[in-house]
Amino acid sequence: MTRLSLIRNIGIMAHIDAGKTTLSERILFYAGRIRSTGEVHDGNTVLDSMALERQKGITISAAATCVSWNYPTNKGEVIYNTKPYQINLIDTPGHIDFTVEVARSLRVLDGAVFVLSAVEGVQPQSETVWRQADRYKVPRIAFVNKMDRAGADFFAVLADLKEKLVANALPLQIPIGEEDRFEGVVDLLTGRAIRWLESDKGKSWQEIEVPLHLVSMVQQYGQWLVEEVASYDDELLEKYLSDLQSITLQDLQRAIRKATISGEIVPVLCGSAFKNKGIQPILDAIVAYLPSPVEVVPVEGIDPQSENKQVRRAEATAPFAALAFKIITDSFVGKLTFIRIYSGSLQAGSYVLNMRTGKKERVSRLMQMHADKQEPLLQAQAGDIVAVVGLRDVYTGDTLCEQDHPIVLEQMEFPEPVIGYAIEAKRAVD
Ligand code: GDP
Repeated sequence: MTRLSLIRNIGIMAHIDAGKTTLSERILFYAGRIRSTGEVHDGNTVLDSMALERQKGITISAAATCVSWNYPTNKGEVIYNTKPYQINLIDTPGHIDFTVEVARSLRVLDGAVFVLSAVEGVQPQSETVWRQADRYKVPRIAFVNKMDRAGADFFAVLADLKEKLVANALPLQIPIGEEDRFEGVVDLLTGRAIRWLESDKGKSWQEIEVPLHLVSMVQQYGQWLVEEVASYDDELLEKYLSDLQSITLQDLQRAIRKATISGEIVPVLCGSAFKNKGIQPILDAIVAYLPSPVEVVPVEGIDPQSENKQVRRAEATAPFAALAFKIITDSFVGKLTFIRIYSGSLQAGSYVLNMRTGKKERVSRLMQMHADKQEPLLQAQAGDIVAVVGLRDVYTGDTLCEQDHPIVLEQMEFPEPVIGYAIEAKRAVD
C-alpha cells in the first residue's frame, strides 16, 4: 500500500446545530486517545489540550487537523498490524453565507461526512450544504446524529435523504433502540450487533446478540443492501446471481466504496456524538468508503503562458503545485498558511512561487497539525494538507508552485459572487 492510499482528506459538513463541532471533537478525541502505537491514554488528554487551546484563543484545530487511525478494527478493538491511516479533518464553514470559503474548503477535501440530526432530519439549510457538495462532486457518507434525543427517528431521516436530497441513501446499520434507549447498532454488512459501553478507555463497544424483534428487519435490510450494491457493481452482481454464499465482506465493502466514490450511493450510519456513541464506526467508514487523494479526479489549472488547461496528478514526482486555503495567526508561531498540495513535493527551507504576486517566498517551516501538538515536517507531498510558516504575502486562494512549472489552480470565478469574494478579487488585482 502506498503512503498516498493511506490518506483521507475529509470535511465534516452540516447544517448549523446538527452536531458538526461535537462530532469533530469526538473524532479527534477518540482517534487521539487510541494512538497508532496501541497505547491507550488515560483521561481526556486530547480534549484537555483542546480546551487549553481554546483558553489561549488558538484556533489551529479549526483549519485542518490530522489524526491517525488504524484500520481494520475487530469487535471494537483496533488491530495494530497495519500502518495507520492519516485522516486530515478539514474545517468546512457551517454558515452558508460564506460561499467562497465553503467552495474553497470543498475544493481541498476529497470526501465528507454529512451530519444530520435524527430529530430535525433534512432542513432547508442542510439542502443548501448538500447541493454545494454536489456541485463539487464530493463523495460522502451520512451520520445521523443525536439518536439519544427525544423524537429521534433514524428511518424518517433516511426517507428525508431520499425524498428531499434525492440521495441514494444506503443504511449500513440499524439502530438498537432510540432516544434514551439508544443502546447500539446492528451492522448490516456483518449482521453483528454491538452495544455501546460507557467506558472511556480502549474498547468502546461490546458484541451482543441481535435483539429478537430486529432479526427479520436485519435480514430484510441486509438482503436489500446486497441487491442494491450489486446493481452498481458488475462483479458483485455476477456473484449475487450465481452464488450468493460466495459474497464476502470484502466484496461488499469494495463495491460500496466504489459506488460511494462515484457518488452513486451515500452510506448512512447513526450515533450520538454527544454520548460518544458511534464514533469508531464512523472513523472506520471514513477509511473504508471515502477516497484517498489518488482516487479523485486530478486537479486542473491554467498554464499562465499558454492559457491552456493543465492537469496535475497526485504524484510526488510531478512539479509542485498547491493551493492556500486558510490563513490563521497562531500566537506561538505567527502566520500559518494552510495548503493542500496537489502535485509534487515541498521541502522545508525551499522557495515557492506565488502566482498572484509573481514573487518567490521561502517556506521556513512545514508543520502538520494534530489536536494536541504541532509536528514539524522536513517534507510534504502531493495529497498532504500542511501548515506553512514563513510565507508573507499570501492570501487564501493563491496558487503556490515551482518557477519552472507555473500553474494557476484557482480562477477567480465563483458560482455565487458575494461581498467577500469581491474584496478578495480586488486585492488580487491590486
Ligand atoms: P454544530 O453547530 O453543527 O457544530 O453543532 P454542535 O456540535 O455545536 O452541537 C449543537 C448542540 O447539539 C450542542 O448543544 C451539542 O451539545 C448538542 N449535540 C451534539 N451532538 C449531540 C448528540 O448526539 N445528542 C444530543 N442530545 N445533543 C447533541
